[in-house]
Amino acid sequence: MKIAVIGGGWAGIAAAVELTAAGAETTLFEAGRVLGGRARGVEIEGHKLDNGQHIMLGAYRDTMALMRRVGADPDQLFDRRPLQVIDNTGFLLALPRLPAPLNVAWGLLSASGVSLGEKLRTALWMDGIKRRGFKLPGETTVAQWLDAAGQTGALRRHLWEPLCLAALNIPAERASAQLFANVLRDSLGSSRREDTDLLLPRVDLGQLLPEPAGQWLQAHHAQIRLSTRVSQITEAENGIAIDGETFAAAIIATAPQHVGALWPAAATDYAYEPIATVYRNFEPKMKSSFPLSNRLGGHCQWVVDRGQDVLACVLSGHGDWEKLNDVALAAALDEELGWPNPTGWHKVIREKRATFAAIPGLHRPDFKTSNPHLFLAGDYTWADYPATLEGAVRSGRRAGQWAMAMRPAD
Ligand SMILES: Cc1cc2nc3c(=O)[nH]c(=O)nc-3n(C[C@H](O)[C@H](O)[C@H](O)COP(=O)(O)OP(=O)(O)OC[C@H]3O[C@@H](n4cnc5c(N)ncnc54)[C@H](O)[C@@H]3O)c2cc1C
Repeated sequence: MKIAVIGGGWAGIAAAVELTAAGAETTLFEAGRVLGGRARGVEIEGHKLDNGQHIMLGAYRDTMALMRRVGADPDQLFDRRPLQVIDNTGFLLALPRLPAPLNVAWGLLSASGVSLGEKLRTALWMDGIKRRGFKLPGETTVAQWLDAAGQTGALRRHLWEPLCLAALNIPAERASAQLFANVLRDSLGSSRREDTDLLLPRVDLGQLLPEPAGQWLQAHHAQIRLSTRVSQITEAENGIAIDGETFAAAIIATAPQHVGALWPAAATDYAYEPIATVYRNFEPKMKSSFPLSNRLGGHCQWVVDRGQDVLACVLSGHGDWEKLNDVALAAALDEELGWPNPTGWHKVIREKRATFAAIPGLHRPDFKTSNPHLFLAGDYTWADYPATLEGAVRSGRRAGQWAMAMRPAD
């Protein structure tokens, strides 16, 4: 079967690999010059870095399975560490290497700067959520959910709010509590200890998946058409036409803002949240005790030590930082982070539509469309998760399986 995938981000890559492995004659169309979409490698000042710092968890099982399938070994390519949340106020929550859920209980009870009463109340609250299967009674924001649960102390400020912003890229005041609960379910609430681990890439995002997947696809006779923007999808007899070329089926795996131009019935009207990553090169060498730390009270939320004397500062969601130009933003961060007279280079990468705004009650489209030969993939179609690599990969896999099955009876 000749099947087209439109969009070579992580969803499109997952779909193309699934299709090719199942024996389809796959053609992957990608508008950009490289595969990867919103998670791709870029070269800056001779360093292999990313279009934006990404944080992954051990719970990203389909992503790791996909990497293995295309010959990229997650055990080699990730620095896997038990989760630690450290911030600039001295707060520390570190999970030990104990079986779940003991690791989370121990981490919580030994967190610094939190009263024993608050720790116990939080442990009981988490236990209650777990017993209800992380299903919330109705759609609320994370802030409303935490308020209602009496989570108004140190753990809210140092743990829940930063985790919400990191996972959903939107502050607790606007974020969907159900999506956040789903993330907690599959990480801190998981029965597998490894799911809570932080996966810190040792290589750039391109080497993690897009490049090995591209090689695997070509070795398996799939066609990859880079720098090829599809402009028209139309119905065809027994199939679907992509810019006039007929395929038995097609998967649109673009970001949500691009789907409407190709298939108006699937158009979305989402709001988006930006992410800026500010890379800063330091001399003399700086050392951090743990490669990822959280920052409260400024523009920057996370600092990641990328090695090679490069730090990445992550600014998630809308904020005052958007008004600053690159030079002013880098200078503001130097001051905020207490880095006097830095001598190295900086590079600011702004992704204006990094993620759809994961607000309560957001409509998430199905992977099926009005046409039985046409399917959707992409982070926005994996309704269980906010915009994540894992959601993108799972959605691509699912769309690939359905395209191969040509829409079995519902
Ligand atoms: C800076 C940043 C930081 C992030 N941090 C994290 C994180 O820490 N953890 C996490 O899990 N997720 C993170 N995300 C989110 C994650 O990157 C996305 O959820 C994921 O990459 C989405 O993949 P996708 O394949 O669904 O869409 P995309 O990556 O947007 O891929 C769509 C592709 O379609 C192509 N395309 C569009 N129109 C056409 C057309 N007409 N013809 C051909 N091709 C077309 C585009 O060029 C693009 O390559 C982050 C995102 C950003 C931007």
